[in-house]
Amino acid sequence: MTFEGGEGAGKSTQIRLLAESLRMGGHAVVTTREPGGSSGAEALRHVLLSGAAEPFGVRMEALLFAAARADHLDCVIRPALQRGEIVLCDRFVDSSRVYQGVTGNLEPVLMAALERVSIGATMPDLTLMLDLPADVGLQRARRRAGGVAAVAVPDRFEKEKLDVHEKRRQGFLDIAAREPERCRVVDASHDVERIARDIFSEVMLVIAR
Ligand code: C5P
Repeated sequence: MTFEGGEGAGKSTQIRLLAESLRMGGHAVVTTREPGGSSGAEALRHVLLSGAAEPFGVRMEALLFAAARADHLDCVIRPALQRGEIVLCDRFVDSSRVYQGVTGNLEPVLMAALERVSIGATMPDLTLMLDLPADVGLQRARRRAGGVAAVAVPDRFEKEKLDVHEKRRQGFLDIAAREPERCRVVDASHDVERIARDIFSEVMLVIAR
C-alpha cells in the first residue's frame, strides 16, 4: 500500500498510526519511504534532496528516482511481500508521475518506460492520496521544518511556488480518477484522528478482499 500527496499532507504521521493499528490487529507490517528505503536508494535520496542535484536536468532526476525505486523494490518491498507482510510505503510511482511527469514535463512515453523498468508489474493494492489545498500543506510543512530537530531545513522541492504545488495536487487527483480501483482520495484537511479512521476503513476493505 502506498501513500501519496503534496508537501505537509501528513503521510508519515498517518503511516505510523496505520502501522500501529494493523500491528495491534496482528498483522506484520513494514513501513518504508521513497526516495530511499534501501541502503542504495537512501544514498540516492541524499543526492536527490540535497543541493547536489540542483544542476541535474529533470530526465536525470527521473532516472535516479527510478533507479532508487528498483533497488528499494528488490531489497525491501518484494522480500517483505513474499514473507506475507503488509508494506506501507511513503510515496511511490505516483510521485514520479506527478513530480517528474506533470510538473517536470517529461513525456508520458518516457515515464511509462521508466515505470516498466523500475517496478515491472508490482503495483500497490491500494494507494491513499492524501489531499489538501497546497497552501495549507505548505504551511504545515513549514511549521514542521521550523519545529524540533528532524526536518530542520525544507528540501529543495518544498521551496517551489504555490501554483506548482497546486498542479501536483491536481496531478494526484487525476491519477485517482483514472485508477479508481487502486486509488482512494482521503481528505487530509481533517484532524489527524479523523484521517486515521478514514484510512483505516479503506485499508480494512482491501485486506478483507
Ligand atoms: O515525502 P517527502 O515530502 O519527504 O518527499 C521528499 C521530497 O522528494 C519531496 O519534497 C518531494 O517533493 C520529492 N520527490 C520528487 N519526486 C519523486 C518523489 C519525491 O520530487 N518522485
